Amino acid sequence: MRRKLVAGNWKMNGSLATNAALLEQVKADCANSACEVAVCVPAPYLAQCQALLAGSHVALGAQDVSMHAAGAYTGEVSAAMLLEFGCRYVIVGHSERRAYFGESDELTASKAARAVAAGLVPIVCVGETLEQREAGQTDAVIGAQIDAVLAGLPQGGLSGIVVAYEPVWAIGTGRTATPEMAQEVHAMLRQRMRAVDQKAVETVRILYGGSMKPDNAAELLAMPDIDGGLVGGAALKAADFFGIVCKS
Ligand code: 13P
Repeated sequence: MRRKLVAGNWKMNGSLATNAALLEQVKADCANSACEVAVCVPAPYLAQCQALLAGSHVALGAQDVSMHAAGAYTGEVSAAMLLEFGCRYVIVGHSERRAYFGESDELTASKAARAVAAGLVPIVCVGETLEQREAGQTDAVIGAQIDAVLAGLPQGGLSGIVVAYEPVWAIGTGRTATPEMAQEVHAMLRQRMRAVDQKAVETVRILYGGSMKPDNAAELLAMPDIDGGLVGGAALKAADFFGIVCKS
């Protein structure tokens, strides 16, 4: 049985004051949640959020990690640094990084491998654009994205990752994939991972992301291969975030 995970992706939002208020509420709301809860925060706020979350049930995550271990890589943040600030999770390959910062399947795979090797759990994002979906390329695009990551993982590494299916056309648009559409892709992803490790695949959580809200979460989370959510906009309001967590 996979324990569901609801992870907030704050993206480039927040401030010292708003983070403190938000996390106080999230901590109180999620103290007894059945699912696992995490927040992925901007790097400068990791120390603040680590302190705020100490002793709580809410896990901490980052939004990106370097493919390199250490050295002359200006602007990069290493997996070891994230671990020092209490991170358990790190998002890799988010569609915004792919689209706006030119990150490829190969770079995403290197980041995921680096995270796993360091003992962080990468939340590996995959997803198709509207154009790709309409051209019937959904399986090919997502298949290539996940296969690149799987090929780069260390031996036995599959059990150390989380996957997030985020259709690009559903992110921040208010358009959600129907539960059936999402389930179809999640099942395809699990099938693809089965080829790597038949046993571990049953424990890998596949999250859905893209305009997940309190009023559509329950039906998405009821699908057999949807094991939680990666939540953007709704993670910035405690009531909306909890409205998803309490359905998980
Ligand atoms: P929204 O929930 O705002 O659509 O964002 C989803 C997302 O990109 C999470 O990583």
